[in-house]
Amino acid sequence: MIGALEATGNPASIHGAGRLARRVLEEARGQVAIAVGAASGDVVFCSGGTEANATAIAALAPGRRVLVGATEHDAVRAAVPADAVVLPVLQDGTLDLAALESGLAGGGPALVCVMLANNETGVVHPMREVAALCRAHGALLHVDAVQGAGRMKIDMGSLGAATLALSGHKLGGPKGAGALVLAAGMHLPALIAGGGQERGRRGGTPALPAIAGFGAAMAAVGDAGRLAGLRDRLEAAAVGLGAVVCGSGPRLGNTSCLALAGVRAETQVISLDLAGVAVSAGSACSSGKVTESRVLAAMGLGELAGCAIRVSLPWNACEADIDGFIAAYSVMTARLRTKGVPGGPGGAASLHPAFSS
Ligand code: PLP
Repeated sequence: MIGALEATGNPASIHGAGRLARRVLEEARGQVAIAVGAASGDVVFCSGGTEANATAIAALAPGRRVLVGATEHDAVRAAVPADAVVLPVLQDGTLDLAALESGLAGGGPALVCVMLANNETGVVHPMREVAALCRAHGALLHVDAVQGAGRMKIDMGSLGAATLALSGHKLGGPKGAGALVLAAGMHLPALIAGGGQERGRRGGTPALPAIAGFGAAMAAVGDAGRLAGLRDRLEAAAVGLGAVVCGSGPRLGNTSCLALAGVRAETQVISLDLAGVAVSAGSACSSGKVTESRVLAAMGLGELAGCAIRVSLPWNACEADIDGFIAAYSVMTARLRTKGVPGGPGGAASLHPAFSS
């Protein structure tokens, strides 16, 4: 990124400084392409996951029926038309494939929007089956891979998606850079038109330092299995203290959604924050307004949906981070058990049986 800050030319300029900037841009493009099994020319840089999702959906939705998963991120839910069919998820958090199949059987061209992995629970959707159903019905598939990228293998060649959304900041890269990846041979009109940058697919001078960091983060993604081991230790300790893990489908190694019955999510977020542990209630993008999680409600978790925190392990999480979390969580639960539940609906008496025992 520092090198990219020093490459002050505009990558569209043909002078030496421009050519240097162009090299930085194309190196990052290659890094992203390799990480997701795509050709460099099919990677379109943009500002992040929200823009990538919006660009794909704005281009592909017109003239198609749109089917969208109930647990998609707000960036997708806000981009689909108001009459989009919402596909339910099963209690384990994975997409209801029978509902997808009957929705697709409605006939006519369709666009299906299903995320690779959920950002609140880490639950991974059965993409092979989703893609096969889309193929069988001639539907296009858009995949929001913002949460899954870097934490599971992605291969654009075999995924069966027409378009894929990525974001740098979710991988330890800087905020403000992401990409829309296109299936081979796919061309989409720009959502933001302008000077013809990104081969006419996204106007605006590219944010070179952020893009360089995004590329480097994609190239440096570590061992997801290592994080899963840390996550398992964290979850075992939390469950021992009364937590319920939300989402029993296959999950990413770094994401854990922990509910404490009877204890509102914001009470837990504040309590852990005071102990120096940063967690969020629901999606971080909307955690300024703490409301019941739409994702957990869609999984049929009822009142627990208002009592869950999301714990995300960053790429560089270590054993000491897990120790710190467990210590803070123990203190929090002990305090709640002895003093009732500040901010909770009914105090200690309403705690989940596993919690109060
Ligand atoms: N999709 C998912 C699954 C996300 O988790 C996020 C953000 O965290 C986004 C989309 C939006 O990405 P960005 O913040 O890069 O716009």
